[in-house]
Amino acid sequence: MQFVDLKYQYTLYKKEIQAEIDGVLKSAAFIKGPALTKFETEMSDYLGGSIHAIGCSSGTDALLLGLMALDVQPGDEIIIPDFTFIATGEVVAFLGAVPVFCDVDPETYTIDPEQIRKKVTEKTVGIIPVSIFGQPADFDRINTLAQNYDLWVMEDGAQSFGAEYKGKKSCSLTQIAATSFFPAKPLGCYGDGGAVFTNDERLAEKVRIILNHGQIKRYHHAVIGINGRLDSLQAAILSVKLRHFDIELQQRQAAAEKYTAQLENLVSTPIVMNDRISSWAQYTVQHENRDQIREILGENEIPTAVHYPIPLHEQEAFSHFPDSNLTAPVTKKLSKQVFSLPMHPFLKDEDIKKIADIMRGII
Ligand SMILES: *Cc1c(COP(=O)(O)O)cnc(C)c1O
Repeated sequence: MQFVDLKYQYTLYKKEIQAEIDGVLKSAAFIKGPALTKFETEMSDYLGGSIHAIGCSSGTDALLLGLMALDVQPGDEIIIPDFTFIATGEVVAFLGAVPVFCDVDPETYTIDPEQIRKKVTEKTVGIIPVSIFGQPADFDRINTLAQNYDLWVMEDGAQSFGAEYKGKKSCSLTQIAATSFFPAKPLGCYGDGGAVFTNDERLAEKVRIILNHGQIKRYHHAVIGINGRLDSLQAAILSVKLRHFDIELQQRQAAAEKYTAQLENLVSTPIVMNDRISSWAQYTVQHENRDQIREILGENEIPTAVHYPIPLHEQEAFSHFPDSNLTAPVTKKLSKQVFSLPMHPFLKDEDIKKIADIMRGII
């Protein structure tokens, strides 16, 4: 069994993907070509049409570009969840700013708005909520709080492209947002890729300039930038996958419901709030005997993973950001108890049943 079945997905879309790749190869427009412009328009349309969508080199770079466009300065404090992938905090530290780790909600695992309030100081400039495992954070509350303190909000939507919050798409919920097209994400390319989204024309223009070496005219560089472009080949592949994406999301939703029906008496199954739709980047459960359960699943050739075993504030890379006030009991517990089961659109009913049967035998 595969954790994410990209090989099967390729067999389904092979003809379309090969035709698109062939088109790019024949045009030799590998950088900033028409395939990229087309995919950017498709992403914008997917989010409702009024959002600027800018392809870039990875989800990590999307976050970095967002922070650079927001003019983050060394010493600025940015509030992020303690329970997330390293990249959310890494980009903050990379710019010399200070990641301020905040605990998460025990049901949704997204940043806890009540805790954010306690972390705000006069140095705080913004908040990066993560829509973890595909479920958007509580953006109405977070945006309101941010307005009250005059902070910006950037959604880390690396796992949640396609998800919804109160009828609006993830990546269109904040003034700026980032996603990832890493192969294993719900919408993945065949290498690294990402995108920045914003409803602010001025920020969009800044992102476009920064991701192209700060260039405003050929060999005229107005600001310090990076090479953060999305390859045309990846954009062409993503255009094909986006056509099939909504059906895949429905298939993920169906798989999640089947998992929950069979597992809810055995482990803590994911809770998605009524006002949200998850993109099911991960199907992550909780149990005290996680390591033992994973071992036996592994013996039965069922791959599992732990997202994430170490709270960010305990990462060695962040050890120079001591926070003596930090208590993150929810993150601490999650890091010891969560594990993720195979999740992709092509999971079969038999696969889910097999996993559930083995888990019933263990627990
Ligand atoms: C995957 C991921 C990223 C980074 O995306 P890459 O494309 O791998 O750079 C950032 N944040 C979160 C929450 C992620 O899951």
